[in-house]
Amino acid sequence: MRLKQGMHKLAVICGLLAISSVIVSGCSGNGNKPGNQAVATEPAARQYYIFDTVVNIKLYDDAKAEEHLDHIDTMLKTLDKELSRTLEGSQLYKVNEEAGKQPVEVSENTVAVVKRSIAYAEDSGGLFDPTVGGLVDLWNIGNGGEHVPEPEDLQRELNLVGYKDIVLDEAKRTVFLKRPGMVLDLGGIGKGYAADEVARYLREEGVKSALVDLGGSSIIVIGSKPNGNSWNIGLQDPDSSRGISVGTIRLNDHVIDTSGIYERYFIEDGVMYHHILDPRTGAPAQNDLKSVTILADNAMDADALSTFVYVMGLEDGLQYMENLGDDTEAMFITADDKIYVTSGLKDSFQVSSAQYTLVE
Ligand code: ADP
Ligand code: MG
Repeated sequence: MRLKQGMHKLAVICGLLAISSVIVSGCSGNGNKPGNQAVATEPAARQYYIFDTVVNIKLYDDAKAEEHLDHIDTMLKTLDKELSRTLEGSQLYKVNEEAGKQPVEVSENTVAVVKRSIAYAEDSGGLFDPTVGGLVDLWNIGNGGEHVPEPEDLQRELNLVGYKDIVLDEAKRTVFLKRPGMVLDLGGIGKGYAADEVARYLREEGVKSALVDLGGSSIIVIGSKPNGNSWNIGLQDPDSSRGISVGTIRLNDHVIDTSGIYERYFIEDGVMYHHILDPRTGAPAQNDLKSVTILADNAMDADALSTFVYVMGLEDGLQYMENLGDDTEAMFITADDKIYVTSGLKDSFQVSSAQYTLVE
């Protein structure tokens, strides 16, 4: 599979923002200064919860905003019942219950996501593997009381990883996991799929100006700001406890997605264990990266890429992203506060924090 690629417009990073998460700000100076033509109306905003993630959506200058927000609520609830691994009775839940027993009939959404997850697995040489669910449960990262698993438990779950044992029958619309105990986990791309669906709906409805924010680490901007300017998206410091922003980037119609090790982790004996797993070892990927940020024209690619490019590490990840072509870009932040960007970002990227050094 080739990852879908498209147009994007990146402009210069503007000044430092003291923020701890990805937010939108008017740092271009065109926005809300007294005397300036400020943004015409307050956005219609709503918060949702899907796949254990808080989603914030803002629609600007839209007469039918409340209607759209209601519709999105229904859409997200449906997607949760299809793709959530933890929601009892969801389609994915049933697929996992029936692992090694029988195929489970699923919806078109689920077929589409499983199909793409297999394609990403093939594309990444297995570094993206949606059958890591058993390992995700074993490590249980971000849920409290975590500890490094016993080697035999790790080996048992590692043996159950293998995307080649997912049987997807598109004609019958069924998913089957060949081996008992296998656990399908679409956590690496489900949010991206949901965000793309929301964006597609809003565009079809003619919405010209909107923001979709999934848990702060994934943002879709639709159109431009109501005043016609680009959106200014803050790039979060992977270690948000320091409250520093790397800078902001100006975007129209685009997706920015970050996978970072500071989102969910625990520390044992001085070692940091985070939630991005290396399917080769069964353990959190060990490298010197704090975060990988992907800029793409769709959220599912950005979501999957940020996860498996993280597993690839700096050198292989950079090369992989360069080979994808110049429409999908990446930014890597290393443990020693160096920033590496793909060639499409080189001219437009300026680091705005003294903490970080851009490697040319
Ligand atoms: P977040 O969901 O916090 O934004 P990511 O998008 O990076 O983070 O996705 C991480 C999630 O993806 C994990 O919580 C897990 O469910 C799943 N995952 C972890 N490692 C892998 C992997 N190597 N391949 C596929 N999915 C993975
Ligand atoms: Mg991701």
